[in-house]
Amino acid sequence: SEEVRINRFLALCGIASRRAADQLVLEGRVMVNGTVITQPGTKVNPDKDEVIVDGQKYAQPESRKVYILFNKPRNVISTSSDEKNREMVLDYIDVKERVFPVGRLDRKTTGLILLTNDGTLANKLMHPSSNVKKEYIAVLGEKFPASMLPQLTGGMRLKDTGEKVRPCRAKLLDEGMQVLLSIHEGKNHQVRRMFETLGYEVKRLERVAYAGLTIGELRRGEWRYLSRNEVRELY
Ligand code: URA
Repeated sequence: SEEVRINRFLALCGIASRRAADQLVLEGRVMVNGTVITQPGTKVNPDKDEVIVDGQKYAQPESRKVYILFNKPRNVISTSSDEKNREMVLDYIDVKERVFPVGRLDRKTTGLILLTNDGTLANKLMHPSSNVKKEYIAVLGEKFPASMLPQLTGGMRLKDTGEKVRPCRAKLLDEGMQVLLSIHEGKNHQVRRMFETLGYEVKRLERVAYAGLTIGELRRGEWRYLSRNEVRELY
């Protein structure tokens, strides 16, 4: 069959999203035909080449695709490798397929994160043009005044880097001690930085909805498989 880029191959095998696969290559964790490769542009022939990641061999794309919704507790990290041995999302998910998180949540943030071995879907959801809706509840240290909602939602410039965020929606809860924020992008620490820009500290942050999926009955530290319909809606 045809040659494909190594990152695409690894995504099809369910090892990582394409972006994360590039990282594996750069970290020297991928061997092709006995040689460590370091160029993310490397192409492989899925029928002929032997691909080994972290010492484990991958040849056939995994056939069973799994889709898992997890309610992440605080102090659990969402990346799949960590030198400091901190608790990881994958420690909670005991399935035999090798799943990976779609995007990230800060260590301190709780709430919904999707995991899958479906590289195609992961790429689609993580692409900046995907427009996935993410809803957060930010618990603040003091009341957020209704008069400042236009500044919060109008598409501000973040004060630390000067980056511009897109307009979004917000609703005050608990008389402004909490804010429900609905955004369609995912810059690093975006919600915390938006509030910081306006002079408010986020004490707790929870993602309560992701791409139309909501927490429902899922308690912190619990996960469930998506239904077939839920998967179809994501595609
Ligand atoms: N915004 C943040 O500040 N943190 C997250 O984890 C997600 C969005």
